[in-house]
Amino acid sequence: MSAACGTCGAAAVVQWRRAKGNTGDTEPVFGCADHALTPDLASQLHEASCKGPGKGGSCSCTPRSDADRFDTPRGPARRLPPGW
Ligand SMILES: [Zn+2]
Ligand SMILES: [Zn+2]
Repeated sequence: MSAACGTCGAAAVVQWRRAKGNTGDTEPVFGCADHALTPDLASQLHEASCKGPGKGGSCSCTPRSDADRFDTPRGPARRLPPGW
């Protein structure tokens, strides 16, 4: 398991998806405990410009909820810290 937080490089606990420009493709983004989205937000598709979560687990975009068509491999997400 080599996923690292895209913000600080620490071991990731969640994976979410971000659109790649207007290509219709998505890319996985990883976040550590400090930079993790809420499970709710992590299941949605984020805008290409999304910088990821700030303090409190909210992010910088308005995520789309039509992400059902993506499978959501959430392997590392099982290790969320207490308080989630
Ligand atoms: Zn981080
Ligand atoms: Zn976002």
